[in-house]
Amino acid sequence: MNCRINKISKKLQKKLDKERYEHTLGVMYTAAALAMCHNANVEQAILAGLLHDCAKCIPNDKKIKLCRKYKLELSDVELQNPSLLHAKLGAYIARKKYHVEDCEVLCAIKSHTTGKPAMTLLEKIIYIADYIEPGRPDLPNMAEVRQLAFKNIDECLYRMLNDSLIYLKSKKLPVDKMTEKTYDYYKTTLKNG
Ligand code: FE
Ligand code: FE
Repeated sequence: MNCRINKISKKLQKKLDKERYEHTLGVMYTAAALAMCHNANVEQAILAGLLHDCAKCIPNDKKIKLCRKYKLELSDVELQNPSLLHAKLGAYIARKKYHVEDCEVLCAIKSHTTGKPAMTLLEKIIYIADYIEPGRPDLPNMAEVRQLAFKNIDECLYRMLNDSLIYLKSKKLPVDKMTEKTYDYYKTTLKNG
């Protein structure tokens, strides 16, 4: 591991609980493997994977306070489910506290919970790596989704979004508008592609 990544991971380890830190390393290595497979920049994937959940262990009320302090926009769904905020807050903290200036890396952190239409390859990689890293509990269809991630990245996205929307709706949990938009976008893209 290079020196910068080493330094960041040490600092991050103090900010995350053990479980979250292990998940973080899983996402980092999975993102690196996906980047190799899809010919993306491996260093960007490692950096974004490492920092994607850097704001996750901040208590929810503090997340809201910090977003207000840093003037980050808050939607109703985010206020109802502040855990979603760790993505945009994480991108801000990655820049402010971990000195990441690479906009592509920051965007991948920002979109990792909801996804967004027309994602860059790096954004797709982080979104997917977060879901399929080896430490994730074995969700239904996981084996298939993991294989798809290395075979057909857009189809993998579609499958993941489809499965999560079904899950959220079955539990009557709020669905972020962006997740819905992302789903529609990839559904149409696949049909037309
Ligand atoms: Fe996350
Ligand atoms: Fe995560």
